[in-house]
Amino acid sequence: MKKIIALASVSLLLVACSTVSMTGRKQLNLVSESEILSASLTEYQSYMKSAKVSKDAAATAVVKGVAERIAAAAEAYLTATGQTADLQNYAWEFNLTEDPNLNAFCMPGGKIVVYSGMLKLIGNGADRDDELAAVIGHEVGHAIAKHGQERASQQMLQQMGGSVLGAVVGGSSAQTQQVIATAYGLGTQYGALLPFSRKHELEADYIGIVLATIAGYDADAAVTLWQKMEAASGGQAPAQFMSTHPSSSKRISELQKNIPQVKAEYGNVSKQTAASQSAATQKKATTTKSTTKSKTTTTKGTGFKIGL
Ligand SMILES: [Zn+2]
Repeated sequence: MKKIIALASVSLLLVACSTVSMTGRKQLNLVSESEILSASLTEYQSYMKSAKVSKDAAATAVVKGVAERIAAAAEAYLTATGQTADLQNYAWEFNLTEDPNLNAFCMPGGKIVVYSGMLKLIGNGADRDDELAAVIGHEVGHAIAKHGQERASQQMLQQMGGSVLGAVVGGSSAQTQQVIATAYGLGTQYGALLPFSRKHELEADYIGIVLATIAGYDADAAVTLWQKMEAASGGQAPAQFMSTHPSSSKRISELQKNIPQVKAEYGNVSKQTAASQSAATQKKATTTKSTTKSKTTTTKGTGFKIGL
């Protein structure tokens, strides 16, 4: 029986390895798209029920305006890279909620929320929209890189247990072993999942500046944004970020390293591409897709709502 489970697991793992197109990183994906979308929609709807939607029409318009352009850039990117099948998964919605915390998120499926605390930190300077684009680009980056699926897959692996995994590793190819080593690692939150989450954050930072650049924003604003975040937290990461996020200085140095390359590679992408996509995005933005209810409980509450 153990052998059968092990063999089933090997084939499952072999077909479940996909690649994040923008960075080329291999990732584990054991959870179906429909399960993720369904669970995410449930989480989002429950969040929106309890959240206080901003009544500040001007501020809301600012968030929606930038979010629409970032969403259009994401769609343009997915189209340009032949990932058109993924486009159908997005039914974009853009919200500003009253919450003093410095946060924002984008659920799988394109539900974007920016907290008023984040907008307050950014302020009303000339680089406001560029910094907001860095925030929203980062969050959309988590979504299009399918970090939610990956985290859920990691949790599924943990639930499968060490003995089954041991059997899998013993009789599998080098590729499978690598997948398991990457995703399962030491099997503890601080040994494996913590650095992996940091990897997600840096990857989302990178995709964020790509999307901001495609949308016609200045990617340099990602640096000033993180400088503001660092200053706001007195040189230390806010408590809720400490366990799962890289330090501001690490993010800033990575961004500074990547921005020139991103500008050179994506800076010539026509703003008109994003603009023409924007009309389509706007049309879809108010439509909420109906999705089937998740069949399993394993994918629920496993961090689909990924904050900054
Ligand atoms: Zn993040």
